[in-house]
Amino acid sequence: MIATEEKTQNGHQEDFYNSILSRCRQAATILGLDEDTYNALIAPSKEVKVNLTVKMDNGRVKVFEGYRVIHSIYLGPGKGGIRYANNVNIDEVRALATGMTLKNAVVDVPFGGAKGGIKCNPREMTKGELERLTRAYAYQLADIIGPDRDIPAPDVGTDSQIMAWLVDAYSRRVGFSSPGVVTGKPLVMGGSLGRVEATGRGVMITALAAMEKLGMNPNETTAAVQGFGNVGSISARLLAEKGIKIKAISDVSGGYYNEKGIDIDLAIDYYNSHDMSLEGFTGADIISNDELLTADVNLLVPAAIEDQITSQNADRIKARLIVEGANGPTSAAADKFFIDKDIMVVPDILANAGGVTVSYFEWAQNRMGYYWDIDRVYRREDRAMNAAFERVYATAKHYKTDMRIAAYIVAIDKISSTMKLRGVF
Ligand code: NAD
Repeated sequence: MIATEEKTQNGHQEDFYNSILSRCRQAATILGLDEDTYNALIAPSKEVKVNLTVKMDNGRVKVFEGYRVIHSIYLGPGKGGIRYANNVNIDEVRALATGMTLKNAVVDVPFGGAKGGIKCNPREMTKGELERLTRAYAYQLADIIGPDRDIPAPDVGTDSQIMAWLVDAYSRRVGFSSPGVVTGKPLVMGGSLGRVEATGRGVMITALAAMEKLGMNPNETTAAVQGFGNVGSISARLLAEKGIKIKAISDVSGGYYNEKGIDIDLAIDYYNSHDMSLEGFTGADIISNDELLTADVNLLVPAAIEDQITSQNADRIKARLIVEGANGPTSAAADKFFIDKDIMVVPDILANAGGVTVSYFEWAQNRMGYYWDIDRVYRREDRAMNAAFERVYATAKHYKTDMRIAAYIVAIDKISSTMKLRGVF
């Protein structure tokens, strides 16, 4: 019934966008969704490409490609991060935006899905250049973003300072202060307590929930965490606090392995004091990122970038449980290896949804002008993440499917029911 076989620009079968589409198709087929609704559900609502001209510190003018894809607004305004990276392209932004639509539905926040990106290398740019680039992007997108239209947030290569510039540029353009145009802002500008650690905290909560189902004792569990940025380092720290031994960590410089367990606080101090890099970290032996993924541990947390676990390495993974901190770390072709070997995968659209959950709290606090204490943020995040986990787990049991397709079923069911109620032109 649902036969669409969309192709991305690069046409790779194992790439991120094709993987999402293939899983959407599987979930929609299980739900018996009609083809018209399915096609309307997966089609991105709006895709914008902007060329941003920025004066560089050396006096030259450079043109940067920027994107914003608002994938869906059925459940609320668009919502999703902005990525600054050299490999940003429309396929990736579209995939990430589609993932946000699904994630926001799984975790039950009143948002559609969106994502943005600028093709640049923020590590090679000065603060002034990054500020001008960000302001140019905000200026160009001022007509499509907004607290009721589409609300960006940080992602790879962006942080609370970039959000602060976005708020300022957007507010100047519309003529009034509008902190709710983005989430992930600095606290003094209306950010939420608990937002910085929200994604890592959600990874920890869903990992513990999954471990309980699998009968895994945290004190006897070993883990490897790929990526040591916001998501990876905080996931590693919070998992270690629960008694899990983190044997391997990694970042773009490579992997670091210690059989006795890595001191995560030490690694975080090292990373922060070495220009956000683990290069030269001495608390462990050096391994490659591939060795990290296939390390002899019970729990694997990919928390770096997409397309890391593919049919090339999936059969060598030894973990019993994979909790996806990153967006799209596993290709659809790799899914079947884990189903066959009964390895539980807590999918990205569930595992890393703690970030957008607290972003929703931030947005709600901005609208109320009333700010919560940290206990309330943690309590509500924990409740939302545990509820989403149980919803997906029960769906997996009901449809006799894996956690990933179950999460897609939860999302597609919710979005398609809303679409039918709202109707079309
Ligand atoms: P970040 O920029 O803070 O950190 C990224 C980390 O990954 C860095 O340590 C970097 O060195 C490492 N890395 C990059 N390429 C790598 C490679 N090839 N191999 C190993 N490590 C590599 O980004 P982040 O915010 O931590 O995001 C990480 C992932 O989590 C992304 O997929 C992002 O979309 C997703 N995510 C982030 C949030 C959030 O709130 N920040 C929320 C949901 C999902």
